[in-house]
Order: sequence, then structure tokens, then C-alpha cells
Amino acid sequence: MFTQPAVAPVNPPLLDGLAAQIAANVVGTIRHASANAPRSRQVAIGPSEIGTPCVRKLAYKLLDWDPKPNKDTDPLASVIGTAAHGWMEETFNKFNPTLPDGRPRYITEQRVAADATLKGSCDLFDRQAKTVIDWKFPGTTSMEKVRKNRDPGVTYRVQAHVYGLGYRNAGEDVEHVAVVFLPRAGRLDGVYVWTEPFQPQIALDALTRRDNVMKVLADLDPENNPAIWGAFPVGDAYCTYCPWHLPKSTNLARGCPGITN
Ligand code: SF4
Repeated sequence: MFTQPAVAPVNPPLLDGLAAQIAANVVGTIRHASANAPRSRQVAIGPSEIGTPCVRKLAYKLLDWDPKPNKDTDPLASVIGTAAHGWMEETFNKFNPTLPDGRPRYITEQRVAADATLKGSCDLFDRQAKTVIDWKFPGTTSMEKVRKNRDPGVTYRVQAHVYGLGYRNAGEDVEHVAVVFLPRAGRLDGVYVWTEPFQPQIALDALTRRDNVMKVLADLDPENNPAIWGAFPVGDAYCTYCPWHLPKSTNLARGCPGITN
């Protein structure tokens, strides 16, 4: 049940009077709704996380390690992304041609399973193109980086192949994976599409890495040996958005200092 959230601070404090009250209430409501969204409460690792280049983050996530010191991540990009995903789902369901074999061309927001435990909802499968498609709505900096590098980054790449494996397990004919980047702060003609042939081994390797990390966690037991967190290598995984990021931390059981990008 929704209860009115506590008034949230607005930073920078440029507003006063009624404007400040409205801003605080709007921000508080968005933060409350975002913190209680199903994705925010997800505990099991999902396709969007398994490919992280940071093994330490993967290990924290697999144990759902507490504490999570970085609680101050701004939810607005995720709120806008979720709303845009909903719009895309509705739109592709509405304009969904029938293939010659009588099946609909598109499958939207289908929950698929790469294995018994790794499950997630895939944005779109295009049966005509035999392609798994994932929508991203990046901000300006990320959009420029993707366009310049012509590379979605390892996390998104693995995510796409995990969905590919999920759809293959569900009996679909998957030949390609794609990530469609639609600029959150731009125009439609700024769209960038990355695609490559479906390679199930990329997804299988991610599952093996997860299993190996879980085995190491069971063997080394960081709950009783916190010093072993240092044994998990770090990778560039947008530390400022990582729930376990604690700047200047010297105790990895309490938080990770991160790496400079
Ligand atoms: S803060 Fe950065 S380096 Fe540390 S676990 Fe998170 S992503 Fe990895």
C-alpha cells in the first residue's frame, strides 16, 4: 500500500516556498516508487548483471551482501527507462504483423531462462529477423561512447546473448542479437544499433563464471573471513552506480573503494 513518503531533500537547494515543497514531494514520490519497483527489489542475479566486468561486484551480488553503502544513486534515468520500455512493449504489441506461418512477428517482454536460475524478461524477439533485441535509453555521454566505440560493452553484450540462449531454450530460432540505443536526451535519428550473430558460448561462459564465483564464495566464506573480498578482482563497472561503492573504504566487508574510470 502506498504511503506518502517523507519529504525528500532537493539538491541543489535553488528553490524555496511552494516550489521547494512541490519539488521535495515529487522527488520523494519518485524515489519511493523506484525503491519499491520489482527490479529494485530483485535479489537473484539477472541477465543485466551477470556479465559485469567486476568479479567483486558479481560476488557481492550473488551473496546479496549487506551492507550496501551506496544508497544515493539517482533513480530518474531508470524511471524514464522503465516508462520507455513500457511504451515500446505496448507499441510493438499493437503493430505486430502476422507471419506467413500464422505466428506474430514480435514477442515482447517474454520471461526466458538461460538455465534453471538465470531468468529475465527480454524486451523483444523478432521472429522474422530471428533476432533478440534489447532497448537501451542512454544519456548523452553513454550514447557518445557507444557510437564512438561501436561497442555496447561487455555487460550489455553478455545480456543479449543470455536472452538469446533463453529464447533458444524456449524453442525459438535465434540467429542474431541486437542492442538498440535510443538517446534519452536526443532525437530518433540519433539511434544506434549494435548487432552480432548469436553465440551461445558467450552466455554459457557467463554461467560458468557465475558458478565458479559461487564455488569460491562457498570455499572462502567471506562472512567469516572478510579479508578474502580482496581476492575478487575488480573491473570497470561504473563504480558510482554500484550498491557496494564506499569511497576510500579500507574494509571490503563494509564497502568497496572502487576504481577510477
Ligand atoms: S565499487 Fe566498482 S570495483 Fe568495487 S565492487 Fe563495485 S563495481 Fe566493482
